[in-house]
Amino acid sequence: MAQEDYYSVLGVDRNASDQEINSAYRKLAKKYHPDLNHEPGAEEKYKKVNEAYEVLHDKQKKAQYDQFGSAGVNGQGGFGGGSGQGGFGGFDGDFGGFGDIFNDFFGGGQARQTNPTAPTRGQDLDYTLSINFMDAIKGKKTQVSYTRSETCSTCSGTGAEKGTHPVTCDKCHGSGYMTVTQQSMLGVVRRQTVCDKCHGRGVIIQHPCQTCHGKGTVDRKNTIEVDIPAGIDNGQQLRYEGQGEAGKNGGPYGDLYISYRVKPSKDFERRGTTIYTTVPISFAQATLGDEINVKTVHGESKLKIPAGTQPNKKFTIRGQGVPYLRGNGNGDQVTTVQVQIPESINEKQKEALVEFVKAGGGSITPQEKGFFERLKDKLK
Ligand SMILES: [Zn+2]
Ligand SMILES: [Zn+2]
Repeated sequence: MAQEDYYSVLGVDRNASDQEINSAYRKLAKKYHPDLNHEPGAEEKYKKVNEAYEVLHDKQKKAQYDQFGSAGVNGQGGFGGGSGQGGFGGFDGDFGGFGDIFNDFFGGGQARQTNPTAPTRGQDLDYTLSINFMDAIKGKKTQVSYTRSETCSTCSGTGAEKGTHPVTCDKCHGSGYMTVTQQSMLGVVRRQTVCDKCHGRGVIIQHPCQTCHGKGTVDRKNTIEVDIPAGIDNGQQLRYEGQGEAGKNGGPYGDLYISYRVKPSKDFERRGTTIYTTVPISFAQATLGDEINVKTVHGESKLKIPAGTQPNKKFTIRGQGVPYLRGNGNGDQVTTVQVQIPESINEKQKEALVEFVKAGGGSITPQEKGFFERLKDKLK
């Protein structure tokens, strides 16, 4: 698949609103739709427009695309076109979000001129996987189970009992739709509707398969091993090809999209590949400087506090952040120091501080704590 920029395919800029994206897509889909445009290259263009729209009208996919480009993450396939790839013909529900737009220019409720017996790709499925903060940093493998439709093995998906076959519907001759003519003020109007004998299937099953009751598919639990790539972030998605619902008439399975939900951590805050933490230091450490140990997602790291460090100063610890999904290395950790003022000190400390002030040429009048405050300190 050519990797063209999805924004330029739709002719919108990167800050385009949902409305602008929808309207650009609508215009282009109509212009290049193979039923309306028979020029060479139109179909190819139409596919690209759909591919771009499928990503840009979906908040999650759009965010992922903005971050990683169309390759998605970790080379697992990314978007690959998803449901829009069902091939033409396809206004059969596999278009998902496009339905409402197509209805606009083809008239809702009209029969869809699709060969109902042609192989159709199965629906995509979504699965939200909740993972621990540290698993998203370190990465791991896990299993995911869900129910999906699978091709019935008794009838191999035909829906007909062993030894029998579906027969072509004699009313619509297998097309699944029929033309009705109506007299109107504008003259004779021909309209297509779903065949009322085969309900759009194009075939009649006289002896339905007893396993699937003629459906051709059965619902089964599917368990797959899922990768949690080190560095995956909240809201990102991976595509598992062929793990969606069964296709029709021998068409391929749809895909499974795993969306990752990363639980927060009490020690770390994460933004992209940067980890944020705070660490308390004393007034003396800030003034004199020190070397301290700072907790990181990888363990511990030494941090030099220079003499004269001010409260809330941020220190960047390179390479101690989140691993990059693609390529080597990690992001950084940003640690903010919080200078702590002691709530109570002993006499010796007090004398030293008064001396400290005097040594700087200043003077100070220390305030005694009240009785209740002293009592409170004692009870601490
Ligand atoms: Zn029919
Ligand atoms: Zn069956």
